[in-house]
Amino acid sequence: MTATDVDPWESSTLADCRKLATEMIGRQTQFDEAFFICDLHDVEYKCRLWRQSMPGIVPYYAVKSNPDPLLCRVLFTNGVKFDCSNQREIKFVLENVPGAKGSDMVISNTAKCVKDIAFSFEIGATLMTVDSVEELVKIVPFRERARILIRLQSSERTSEITFNRKFGADNDTILKILIKCKELDLNVVGTHFHVGLGFVSPLIYDESIELSRAVFDIAKEMGFTMNILNIGGSFPGGVRRRKQFSEVAAVVQRSLERNFPTGCGVTVIAEPGQFFSTSAWILCTKVVAVKDTSIDKTHNPGAASDLRARLSRMQRRHLKLNKLGESHSQEEVADAAVGGIVAKEHHVVLARNVFLNESRSNVIPRAALPYLDLHFYRVGKDEEIPDIGDGGTDSKTVLWGATCNPIDHILEWGHLVDFKCNEWILIDNMGTYSRAFQCGFNGFGIPPVHYIGHGARKEA
Ligand SMILES: *Cc1c(COP(=O)(O)O)cnc(C)c1O
Repeated sequence: MTATDVDPWESSTLADCRKLATEMIGRQTQFDEAFFICDLHDVEYKCRLWRQSMPGIVPYYAVKSNPDPLLCRVLFTNGVKFDCSNQREIKFVLENVPGAKGSDMVISNTAKCVKDIAFSFEIGATLMTVDSVEELVKIVPFRERARILIRLQSSERTSEITFNRKFGADNDTILKILIKCKELDLNVVGTHFHVGLGFVSPLIYDESIELSRAVFDIAKEMGFTMNILNIGGSFPGGVRRRKQFSEVAAVVQRSLERNFPTGCGVTVIAEPGQFFSTSAWILCTKVVAVKDTSIDKTHNPGAASDLRARLSRMQRRHLKLNKLGESHSQEEVADAAVGGIVAKEHHVVLARNVFLNESRSNVIPRAALPYLDLHFYRVGKDEEIPDIGDGGTDSKTVLWGATCNPIDHILEWGHLVDFKCNEWILIDNMGTYSRAFQCGFNGFGIPPVHYIGHGARKEA
C-alpha cells in the first residue's frame, strides 16, 4: 500500500482537526460561535486521487459547491480548472486564484444572462454549454470564438434528484441545436451531461457516455468536428465514499475505452464539485440548549399524548397536596405519598431536543443533507456518536438548528444521547453545498474558517 492509498480520514485528518478545535475552544471559554476547519492536505489528497483514478480527464471544479479562495488556489496549483456559472463566479476565480484565466473555465450554465456571455468572452472564457436553440442566438455575436457544448439529458436511472427536468436537451432538441448551429455558423465542439444527485448505480455514467458517443457520430455526419466530452459532476467525495468513487471511476474508464478510445482526438473533461469540497471540511458547533420531553410512567404510561387528562390528574394531585399541607402534619403527607397519591414519578424521556448554534438555514446543508453521510463527533472524545437504532426504547434524540424556523431540523437518533449544554460537536463531510448557502439568517452569523496545511498562511 502506498501513501496515497491511505484515506487521510482514516489516518490523520480528523485527528488534526479535532486537535485544532480543542485548542481553539480551550483558548476562549466564552467562545460561542460555530467555526469551520478546512484541511488543505485533504484537498491535495483528492487531487492525487483524481489523477490516479481518472487519468487524462481534466477536472473543472464546480465553484458553486464551495466558493472558498484557499480551496480554489490549492486546486488550481494541482492542475484543476473551474466550472463557473456567471459573471460573479468568474470574477471570484480571477480575483482569488493567481494565474487563473478565462481559458481555464467552462461556463456550464445553460440559461445565461446576455451580459454574462459578453463578460465571458471579454476575459476569454469561450467554452460554454447550451441546451436550447434559443440560447444559441445570444452567442451569435461572438461566433468567431465561441466553443459550444450541447448539454444532453443524461441517464438519471437511480438518481434521487433530477437535473433533466430543468436542464438538458432531449433527442429532438439536440438535432434542432445542431441544425441551427449549421445555419448560424456556430462552432459546436462537444457534449455535456450531469447524472443528477443521490444515484445508486454508477452505470448511469456509462449510459450517458454512450449517448454522447451517438451525438458525436450524428454531429460528424453533419460536418461538425467535436473534440470535447464533458462528463459533469456528482462524483462522490465524502469521507466514507472512497469505494463508491472508485466504482464510478472504473465504470467511466471502461466506458471511455469503449466509446472514446485513446487517440480518438477527444479531450475528456469533468466538473467535480462535491468530490473536491466535501471531506476537507468539518464544522465545529456547540450545543446551546437541551430540552427533554418526558412522561410520567407511574400514573399512566399509555396516555403520554393525552395532555388534558394528564393536566387534570396533576391538578387533582396538587389540590390534595395543598389540602394536606394546610391542615395535616408532615407524617400525614408522607402517608399519603406511600398510599399512592403522590407516588414518586418515574420519568421517561421520550425526546431529547438538542439545539446547536448552527442551522440548516445557514451552513448545515439544506437540500443535499440526506446524501452527504454526515457523522457527528464530540470534541475530546475519539468515537463518533453512534446510530445504534432504537436502542429498545421509544426514546429518541432530535437535533435542531439554531434558528426560529420550525423546519430547521437536522436529524434524529433513535435513542437517547447524553448531550450536555455547552459541549462542542464536530460534524464531518461539511464542505459541500454548506457554506455556499451561508447567509446569516436570524442573526446567527457566518462561521469563520481555520485552515490546516499548505497554503494555510496565505490567507493572512
Ligand atoms: C453543480 C454542478 C456540478 C457539480 O456537481 P457535484 O455534484 O457537486 O459534483 C457540475 N456541473 C454542473 C453543470 C452543475 O450544475
